[in-house]
Amino acid sequence: MNSIQLATLMCLAAPAALSAQNPDSRFETFPTYDGTDLELTVDASGTHWRLWSPEAEAARVILYPTGANTAATDTLDMTRSEGGTWVASVPRQLYGDFYTFSIKHSGRWLDETPGVWAKAVGVNGQRAAIIDFATTNPEGWEADRGPALAHINDAVIYEMHHRDFSVSPSSGIANKGKFLALTEPATHNAHGEATGIDHLKELGVTHVHILPSYDYNSVDEANLPANTYNWGYDPLNYNAPEGSYSTNPSDPAARVREMKEMVKSLHDNGLGVVMDVVYNHTADNDNSNFSLTAPGYYYRHRPDGSYSDASGCGNETASDRQQMRDYIVNSVKYWADEYHIDGFRFDLMAIHDIETMNEVAAALKEIRPDIFVYGEGWTAGDSPLPVERRALKENVAKMPQVAVFSDDLRDAVKGHYTDAADRGFATGKPGLEETVKIGIVAATAHPQVDYSKGANSKFPYAAAPTQVINYVSCHDDLMLTDKLRLSLPDDSEADRQRAARLAQTIVLTSQGTPFIFAGEEIFRDKKGVHNSYKSPDSINAIDWELKHSNAEQMAYYKELIRLRKEHPAFRMTTTDQVARHLRFDPVRPGLVSYSLVDNANGDSWNEIKVVFNGSNEAQTIKVARKDWTVIAEDGRINADGLSTTRGGTLTVAPRSALILARSK
Ligand code: CA
Repeated sequence: MNSIQLATLMCLAAPAALSAQNPDSRFETFPTYDGTDLELTVDASGTHWRLWSPEAEAARVILYPTGANTAATDTLDMTRSEGGTWVASVPRQLYGDFYTFSIKHSGRWLDETPGVWAKAVGVNGQRAAIIDFATTNPEGWEADRGPALAHINDAVIYEMHHRDFSVSPSSGIANKGKFLALTEPATHNAHGEATGIDHLKELGVTHVHILPSYDYNSVDEANLPANTYNWGYDPLNYNAPEGSYSTNPSDPAARVREMKEMVKSLHDNGLGVVMDVVYNHTADNDNSNFSLTAPGYYYRHRPDGSYSDASGCGNETASDRQQMRDYIVNSVKYWADEYHIDGFRFDLMAIHDIETMNEVAAALKEIRPDIFVYGEGWTAGDSPLPVERRALKENVAKMPQVAVFSDDLRDAVKGHYTDAADRGFATGKPGLEETVKIGIVAATAHPQVDYSKGANSKFPYAAAPTQVINYVSCHDDLMLTDKLRLSLPDDSEADRQRAARLAQTIVLTSQGTPFIFAGEEIFRDKKGVHNSYKSPDSINAIDWELKHSNAEQMAYYKELIRLRKEHPAFRMTTTDQVARHLRFDPVRPGLVSYSLVDNANGDSWNEIKVVFNGSNEAQTIKVARKDWTVIAEDGRINADGLSTTRGGTLTVAPRSALILARSK
């Protein structure tokens, strides 16, 4: 989803008072239903449907033998039941059959819909499927568990798209662009270097963040040889996996089974799975599954009755309405329970209200305390939801179990996302030092950080460092390699790679949770395309031969990740800890440095000195005369040490990080 931080730039409308003129006010009186038997249940007594549709004048279930292109075999009239629902039953287990709902509303029968709770679907998600979920579990599924995580900032997150990751012939992966790509061990490029899941293990990331993997609208699952590409921010069926990532989109169980096999494979290899969820809007408006089951209810509207559009995609959902809030909460619970998902990334999270996000986090923590939640703390347009209720970055302190992306660090380190040529701290632009410091302390209150000088935020919005995700690159906007090429047009590739190392060293050593975009570790690019949501494979595919040509880049990232994982000083969990153990030196143009002191967060090192020189000149720095181990210097890094020094006046090479450590 486009990361347009309009919410922080725009003059926002005053909270809209509910009134008789507000087309949404009638929804407040709707009965709600929060049972777990919504839409479909199969048990010993038969097959049962329960559709929530308070305004329907009549409702039907229509049965089909296949997921597409066949005539109905039966139509069942539904009867009114409690909480605005309609029910129907047959005394048989209809495994293998498909169904849709249709409701009569304002005197006419609406188009058929698989409903909003279809957990299995036929090709292109047009009909819901009745399958026995017990048969979709891989062997050993009951004992399957994601990696234990004491705190979110122990994670190192790797954001990837299924197709980017495996579709190139250079991946050596058989199941290209499929869930199963992440189940293949021992894959490699032409030089024998690991790709796929072995590459992830080698790199050392802890969690794979998969771009939308629920059933989305844009890719024609009936015509996969056409090889169309999409990020998937166009939700169709929120509770079923995307068909084009399965080996057979026409077999409703295949996508379920294969996604579970992917999760299990990652778990078996010690990796967690974060799912990107997009409850903030749907691909369609009047023809969405929401609109066809309960017209109007799930969306926010303008006073003239048109769809409000905080998503920039034509509509926005209404988490502040009870049935929608319950829907989001129950949907993420379902993915956590049925698919063992370890974390959720909320797209345009500020379209949702604070109360919903707190309920989401609480419900997930109840399932497993180490499931974590983060999101984009902004919207892509104005919303009728009052600013103070939005799950904005600026409101994250009101959501203690939720984290937000730091656009502060991102824009300060590499340059602003709206201007390709703009440079940042790591590419030699002075004046951003204080904003880099905001990133380093994960936007917590720190006595040595002057928030009035922050480029994006003017106050410490995070109540704890666990509330911030630090990054310099993701699927949105120019990814790091392209940003460096466009903002450093006269530099050599080697110098741009130095800048990338410096940028990621800032990310991986900062407090908060680090997040990298797949392929950055081998300096992949997207040929300068900043919004590649439907670009072809030639733009989006990762060329794994780069792992050979950019082997030193990979080695640096790997060692940087190891450094973070072995040293809890980089992973403090409270604002007070950071304030006490992280001490900045006065900044100079292009130079930010600090010490992590007194065995911060139980670290084996008594002191860690971290110096970032973003300028194109060597700079000197004075360091206490002690016995130091040099961990990083001049674009090289070794978590066990490159060399030693006695301190004093040291030179920091241009555009590089110097990291020193001492045990006493
Ligand atoms: Ca689909």
